[in-house]
Amino acid sequence: RWAAAVGPRQVLLAEPRAFCAGVERAIEVVERALELHGAPVYVRKQIVHNSHVVADLASRGAVFVEELDEVPPGATVVFSAHGVAPAVWDQAGDRNLSVIDATCPLVEKVHAEARRFTARGDTVLLIGHAGHEEVDGTLGEAPGKIKLVESPADVAHLEVDDPQRVTYLMQTTLAVDEAEEVVDALRDRFPAVIGPGSADICYATSNRQNAIRRVAVEADVVLVVGSQNSANSRRLVDVTEREGVPAYLVGDVGEVEMSWLAGADTIGISAGASAPPTLVDELTQALSGLGHTTVGVRSVGAETISFHLPKELRRPAR
Ligand code: SF4
Repeated sequence: RWAAAVGPRQVLLAEPRAFCAGVERAIEVVERALELHGAPVYVRKQIVHNSHVVADLASRGAVFVEELDEVPPGATVVFSAHGVAPAVWDQAGDRNLSVIDATCPLVEKVHAEARRFTARGDTVLLIGHAGHEEVDGTLGEAPGKIKLVESPADVAHLEVDDPQRVTYLMQTTLAVDEAEEVVDALRDRFPAVIGPGSADICYATSNRQNAIRRVAVEADVVLVVGSQNSANSRRLVDVTEREGVPAYLVGDVGEVEMSWLAGADTIGISAGASAPPTLVDELTQALSGLGHTTVGVRSVGAETISFHLPKELRRPAR
């Protein structure tokens, strides 16, 4: 299939790309839980939004469920990297479940802000996408006091108790420039609005967006590896398209259509924060197999951040 193509001349890899620290931690949480407790270990929702990761962990004994009523009473359950609402913790308590929380610390930071701001009487406006698990979890911190804002157009319809006491927060995986457009609309409508102490869009999301923009400057087409339900992977496609370059989200190399590459001398590649780096390697190798291909990297800097495992899973110090 690949051999039939006219060979691309250059492949450019965006750096950073693929797994972030929060995703690596969440996967390790499930692996360690399997080691310590044996199979099955239940996981509420996809641990991260990547079908390859989920299939791999399922083959090793993880059992993925949508809701906690599918978990036998007293069993061990892992909460996914996207975080959960307090009501889900309550439900776990009611079912006597042993919870291991793989919520990314940067998502937990947004939850903490939501609790703090609503506790002091603010209406919190959460910029994000309806139906995303992270958004459901954050909204659940103070039902009724946190309102979802998806676009600048939503801002005109917002009703708040006191326009002087309005705060905004963000989903961690938004496109930075789109989120700024919503913030501008909020400032126009509520001049007293204040934002989080530090930006909620996480380092991994913004780094991957900056890196893919760097690649898009030179590329004729960009391939983003990630699952369709991965928010930050989809934003990488959006960011590239906003640069005027066609971009395609592919679960793995098998989903690439040769017609996308026709006439492309330079092919950019990145991967969302939930996508395994091995999938990028496979794609790069397949493209290199087309002949006369150079592989370059366009970097905005390497990432060094890592997160501790939850206490109950840490190995004892030697
Ligand atoms: Fe955490 Fe950001 Fe990775 Fe989400 S994308 S798991 S918030 S580091």
